[in-house]
Amino acid sequence: MTTRRQFVRLTGVAGLAAVGARGFAQVAPVQPGAPVGPAPVTPVAPAAPVPAASAPAVPATPAAPAGPLVSESEPQAVAVGYVNDAQHADLRRFPSYHPGQRCANCRLFQGAPAATQAPCAFFNGRSVLASGWCSAHQLRIG
Ligand code: SF4
Repeated sequence: MTTRRQFVRLTGVAGLAAVGARGFAQVAPVQPGAPVGPAPVTPVAPAAPVPAASAPAVPATPAAPAGPLVSESEPQAVAVGYVNDAQHADLRRFPSYHPGQRCANCRLFQGAPAATQAPCAFFNGRSVLASGWCSAHQLRIG
């Protein structure tokens, strides 16, 4: 069993403590009349809370401007079987049509799902009806 005296002799803790205290006294001599102890901490004022009501409102993303409506009879629309009502899709020409597909749930429809019409990327920004469909339909996920 090691005694306390043996421990101090083996580790030199007492010597280090003495040197450390003397060294510290040389670095920071205490002046007569000077306050002893750590420097006073200046209190920091808490940040003022930002009331939620005064926060500026974030403007809603403006909807894409609607171009002229695509006509079912124009060549590009005929080529892809565009119809204003998805229930009238030509199933013989476009067997890829599945019930429930419509412009409103197509990735290329650039309006909110609740919009009645919006620009379509396939038709270079010209508008299609939300109820429409064409063979370029790509189901929107999420
Ligand atoms: Fe409708 Fe999509 Fe075809 Fe555009 S690409 S007409 S949004 S189904």
